[in-house]
Amino acid sequence: MQPNIESLRSAFTQELSHADSSEALEILRVKYLGKKSPLQNLMKGLKEVDGEERKRVGKEINDLKEEITQSLLTVQEEVYQRELTAQLVEEKLDVTLPGRKDFAGYKHPVTEAMDEIVDILTGMGFSVQYGPDIDTDYYNFEALNFAADHPARDMQDTFYIEPHVLLRTHTSNIQARVMEQQRPPIRIITPGKAYRNETITARSHVLFHQIEGLYIDKAATFADLLATLKELYSKLFSADVVMRYRPSYFPFVEPGMEVDISCLSCGGKGCGLCKHTGWLEVCGAGMVHPEVLKNGGIDPEVYNGYAWGMGVERCLLLKRGVKDIRLLTENDLRFLRQFNGI
Ligand SMILES: [Zn+2]
Repeated sequence: MQPNIESLRSAFTQELSHADSSEALEILRVKYLGKKSPLQNLMKGLKEVDGEERKRVGKEINDLKEEITQSLLTVQEEVYQRELTAQLVEEKLDVTLPGRKDFAGYKHPVTEAMDEIVDILTGMGFSVQYGPDIDTDYYNFEALNFAADHPARDMQDTFYIEPHVLLRTHTSNIQARVMEQQRPPIRIITPGKAYRNETITARSHVLFHQIEGLYIDKAATFADLLATLKELYSKLFSADVVMRYRPSYFPFVEPGMEVDISCLSCGGKGCGLCKHTGWLEVCGAGMVHPEVLKNGGIDPEVYNGYAWGMGVERCLLLKRGVKDIRLLTENDLRFLRQFNGI
């Protein structure tokens, strides 16, 4: 028994001197202290040893077990410190380096502008309605009183998908659909994208965003329309804007007009923004044409209404001085990061 204990001790000491990692030490621990270790076998062999001899050998085995346990702990601590130091060197942190800036995401300026306009109008009692970007000729043109030979129906201005299916040229298609489905009073706004087959320039694009408003009731008046627009633009531009109305023609309103506000930059004296006229064009508007009401199944003898259409990019152009609307679709972060709310 004695030589076995001694040879085990020297074998362990020999192996321990080569163990230089946590993994190697764990293998050694299992080998010398585990359930199938030689030490356990020696313990089992004690049954065959008698009396005093058993006590003596048993003590020697326990001493060796304790010795192995302690040696492992000591070397483990050394190896751990060494590995930790190596890890810290590898993961060295230079606290003098400048910090990295986090960029928080925020809404695209067009979405931001659209949300702001929608907020103002819902606060005035209008509810939001959405509709399809791809629609039929009927809802985009015919229901809105566009004559068959109206120039806006020309292929030059409209993206046709099939002979009578197109990308809507305005969000008024939603108005035509709502009039079919709802009975007055109707008080809605229709935010969304509109598409026109035009040459892309700094001021016009094939894709733009529009919000149209529609109010139909028994006693809707032209004065209501003017008051609504004044309230809307005063809030949007945070100024008590002066309005100017110019008669104009749109097939779906009668009378129709174009609406200007006093220049936000020069207050009416004349500057680059207003092309020295003192006025900025902001939207088209008018009283809903009786034919449009009839097409929607609403009796024009009983009801009347007003409507207007405004471009969201145009509002951004005026409010934030965006000089080229192409920038709004190019996703250049250097441009977009200048906005955070309009
Ligand atoms: Zn001006």
